[in-house]
Amino acid sequence: MDSTETRCSSMSVLQISLLARKPQTLTKEEKRLRTNAYMKLFYVKNRETIKARVRLYRSTHLEADKEYYQRDKDKKNAQRKTRRNRPREKLTDEQRAIRIKESEGRFRENHPDYGRIKYLKHRNAALASAKKYRTEHPEQTKRARAKYYKNNRDKSSQNGKAWRAKNTIRVLYHIAKRRALKRGAPIGDLEALAAWEHSVRSKKYVICYWCMTRISGVSCNLDHIVPLSKGGAHAVENLCVSCQPCNSRKYNSLPQDWNKRLPQPRLFF
Ligand SMILES: [Zn+2]
Repeated sequence: MDSTETRCSSMSVLQISLLARKPQTLTKEEKRLRTNAYMKLFYVKNRETIKARVRLYRSTHLEADKEYYQRDKDKKNAQRKTRRNRPREKLTDEQRAIRIKESEGRFRENHPDYGRIKYLKHRNAALASAKKYRTEHPEQTKRARAKYYKNNRDKSSQNGKAWRAKNTIRVLYHIAKRRALKRGAPIGDLEALAAWEHSVRSKKYVICYWCMTRISGVSCNLDHIVPLSKGGAHAVENLCVSCQPCNSRKYNSLPQDWNKRLPQPRLFF
């Protein structure tokens, strides 16, 4: 059952309990509170309709509206003043913090989509300014990320896993790039690399460059013709598609040595 059907956040505990009791068993004051609770419920359920009706009434009864505020003006002002100046209980900082938190909780309960709507409205601006901050403050960003990771280890690793499962191609691309960087190998045009790899991965079948076997595009090896360890570049010009057996056999041999071991040489110098 929806929580707004049986209670709303501005109700007291007493009111909530009164709603469950039969009116015959209640005192006059309890009945009044019970009715009041029902009115609150009605208001919460029909908030938008009521607000729209009030707006409509006001826009068509401008004079009446004015008259309402003029009527007993002094009396109303005096009441307002007394209300404002009523003695208040002194709160400790802690109590005040609790009250604020409770009131924020009530607000969130009554406006479940508030944060989301606000975010969507300013999404692009927020993303842009966050990005700007990250570029201008690399050290703080690094620290904040490390802190977030430390405090949300499970969530972070789950998110990472989900992302990697969804973006297998990019994962392979990053692994290759990292490996090249680690070896200090020259790196070619990264955009061209990404495009080439994407085209390979999106094909159902590709042909192994060395043995001409048909293999799956998603799971094939991307082989450096001149191995990174022998000074080859991580670049489209130095890459080919390879099956697992060829990739393992070739390992880090130089192309001229590997060429000789192929039944049909594939490179011509
Ligand atoms: Zn092969």
